[in-house]
Amino acid sequence: MKLEVKSITKIFTGSDVKNTTKALDNVSFSVEDGEFISIIGPSGCGKSTILRLIAGILEPTEGELLLGEKPIEGPDKNRGMVFQKPTLFPWLTVEDNVMFSQNIQGKKGREKAERLIEMVGLSDFKKSYPSQLSGGMAQRVSLIRTVINRPEVFLLDEPLGQLDAFSRINMQEELLRLWNENHHIMIMVTHDVDEAIYMSNRVIIMEPRPGRIKRIMDIDLPYPRNRLSDEFSNLRNEAMKSLGME
Ligand code: ADP
Ligand code: MG
Repeated sequence: MKLEVKSITKIFTGSDVKNTTKALDNVSFSVEDGEFISIIGPSGCGKSTILRLIAGILEPTEGELLLGEKPIEGPDKNRGMVFQKPTLFPWLTVEDNVMFSQNIQGKKGREKAERLIEMVGLSDFKKSYPSQLSGGMAQRVSLIRTVINRPEVFLLDEPLGQLDAFSRINMQEELLRLWNENHHIMIMVTHDVDEAIYMSNRVIIMEPRPGRIKRIMDIDLPYPRNRLSDEFSNLRNEAMKSLGME
C-alpha cells in the first residue's frame, strides 16, 4: 500500500503571532509498499510532526496525506506508532500489556502474544512487570504491542534513542527481522546517521526553521549491511556533509 505525503505545510498557532511556528514547509515524499525509510535532521526540524500527521493525530495546515489512495483521517490500527520512551502499563505484566493492545482476546490471543514475546526473547519475563525490565526489554515489549495489530505502516520515533550501544545494535536486528517478516512500510526517525544507513532503503534528510526536506538519499546496499565497508563509509560521509556535520 503506497503512502503519499503531498505538499504538507504545518503551522502551529499560539496565542499570538510570536508563538506561531511553521513546523513543516511544503514537504512531499512517497513511500512504496515494503520500503524502510529513515528521517534524520536536527532537533526541531519537524520529524515527529511528520510521524504524527501520518498517524492521524495531527492535521496538516495545507496539503494532503494518502494511504492506498485514501486520505488519512484520524488514527487507525493500520498505522502503528512506537515512541522513544516505552509506553507500557506499569500495573500489567508483559503478557497482559501485549494482550491489552490487540483485538483478539481469549486463548487464541494469548497464544499469539506468547509467540511474539518468544520471538523477541522475553519468554522468561512474560509474568514480569515493566519496572522489572531493562530499557531494551521494555522497548521490545512496546514494539510487539504495535506488531500484534499488524499495521501496514510502522511509525518509529527515535525508538532506540534511549538504549545503550549494545542493546541498540540488537534492536536494529530485531527491527530488520520484523520488517523482513511483515514487509510493511517502516518510517523511522533517528538522529544516528549509521543507524539510518544501516537499516533503510532511503534516508530523508531534513533542515529546520521551517522544517523542509533537504535531500533524499537512496541507500542501494544489499542486506545485511557491513558498517565497515567502503560503500557504507562513503554514504555516511555524504549524509554527514548534507547534515552539516563535517
Ligand atoms: P523534531 O521531532 O524534528 O525535533 P518536532 O516535529 O517535534 O521536531 O517540532 C517541530 C517544530 O514544531 C518545533 O519548533 C516545535 O517546537 C514545534 N511544535 C511541535 N509540536 C508543537 C505543538 N503541539 N504546538 C506548538 N509547536 C509545536
Ligand atoms: Mg521529535
